[in-house]
Amino acid sequence: MKAQFEPILEQVLRRNPGEIEFHQAVREVFDSLGPVLAKHPQYADAAVLERICEPERQIIFRVPWVDDAGHVLINRGFRVEFNSALGPFKGGLRFHPSVYLGIVKFLGFEQVFKNSLTGMPIGGGKGGSDFDPRGRSEGEVMRFCQSFMTELYRHLGEYTDVPAGDIGVGGREIGYLFGQYKRITNRYESGVLTGKGVSWGGSLVRTEATGYGTVLFAEQMLRTRGMSFDGRRVLVSGSGNVAIYAIEKAQQLGGKVVAASDSRGFVLDEQGIDVSLLKQVKEVERASIEVYAQRRGNGAVFVPGERVWAAGGDIALPCATQNELDESDAKNLLNGGVVAIAEGANMPTTPEATALFQEAGVLFAPGKAANAGGVATSALEMQQNASRDAWTFDYTANRLAAIMSGIHDRCATTADEYGQPGNYVMGANVAGFLKVADAMLALGVV
Ligand code: NDP
Repeated sequence: MKAQFEPILEQVLRRNPGEIEFHQAVREVFDSLGPVLAKHPQYADAAVLERICEPERQIIFRVPWVDDAGHVLINRGFRVEFNSALGPFKGGLRFHPSVYLGIVKFLGFEQVFKNSLTGMPIGGGKGGSDFDPRGRSEGEVMRFCQSFMTELYRHLGEYTDVPAGDIGVGGREIGYLFGQYKRITNRYESGVLTGKGVSWGGSLVRTEATGYGTVLFAEQMLRTRGMSFDGRRVLVSGSGNVAIYAIEKAQQLGGKVVAASDSRGFVLDEQGIDVSLLKQVKEVERASIEVYAQRRGNGAVFVPGERVWAAGGDIALPCATQNELDESDAKNLLNGGVVAIAEGANMPTTPEATALFQEAGVLFAPGKAANAGGVATSALEMQQNASRDAWTFDYTANRLAAIMSGIHDRCATTADEYGQPGNYVMGANVAGFLKVADAMLALGVV
């Protein structure tokens, strides 16, 4: 990292003590920006880096709710409105016991660059709660969502801040959140949340978009080296929204996905993952992935407490959570002959593992580029809401494919332009930064 970044990084560390994931995300972006500041001193003159690391607004609130046994429980809610230079704050809500300010801030910071990369008019933000929906009844999840929105609604609006889902927040939670927003405001403001059900303002393809988009990005990368998914052995981590649709699209493109996981372990299914069974177990029954292996009846095994990466494959798609692929996993993958990694999750690869992949010269797509299809399709949902329209699946899927191709090319061209061809991490950080930074300069010191 260039010396001129050090005082700014020190300030970030001092202002945000203990928020290690946020520090990691900032460091990773700073590592790419040296050549940009050398070429464009105006960004340093206007303190754009200092400003971009400081959220515009951070909201922390109490979420009281009553469980089925009549006990009063308290969770903490967050919304970090990071940057609105390009449009209303946009980014998901995560419900998971690990959520604290540092996680929300890292996600919000990443989101600023990701949303910029999509080329769409959306700023960056993120939110969530340390509430754990797992094991909770429908009634408990609904009451929690209603209480969460009873505070958050005052900060939202289709021109202000537009949340969506993330870990632990899917269509069910978005429904309860939207219902409470509608009730409090007495407005059917469809554009205030994305990831809605298709019959009440949602967009076709939004459910599939992040996973599909990740695979489309990987396919574009592979093409630059004359390769494709066809006949390739693929490893996917996670079995949630992103993972399931990454598996589906990889299979549509001829890949053989042999592994998927959840927080309890992974399944190895040498005949190829049966997506409809996986959807039944994880989306409908909300059970452990172990149940998948038990029901598959073809020799698929469940490996408790382990990660998928030791199973060896040509293509790796980490689609679960942050820092789930470390240096030893990277070594395992490289020994197993991996040719491409595309991050469906946000920051799943540790910096040490990323460095190993880059040194080895394998294709590596960072999440802020590869998983941007989700937020891009959320922006398409907002367009449909604004025009009171509903597009077909094929039309929306074609828009998504064109957007992913545009992001791929933007990253590749920017990396070339700044002297690091093939470095998608650098390309994504620089291209994402430039658009936001120029808008910030144009808007003055605000
Ligand atoms: P889901 O809640 O649908 O699924 C998350 C999956 O990851 C589950 O299989 C879960 O296992 C597993 N998981 C969660 N935490 C851990 C952990 N600490 N260790 C191991 N496994 C874990 O979330 P999504 O699929 O929506 O999100 C996955 C990732 O993709 C996140 O990083 C998210 O930020 C990112 N992302 C999501 C987008 C979206 O549109 N949904 C858009 C862009 C990025 P279990 O079932 O046991 O809990």
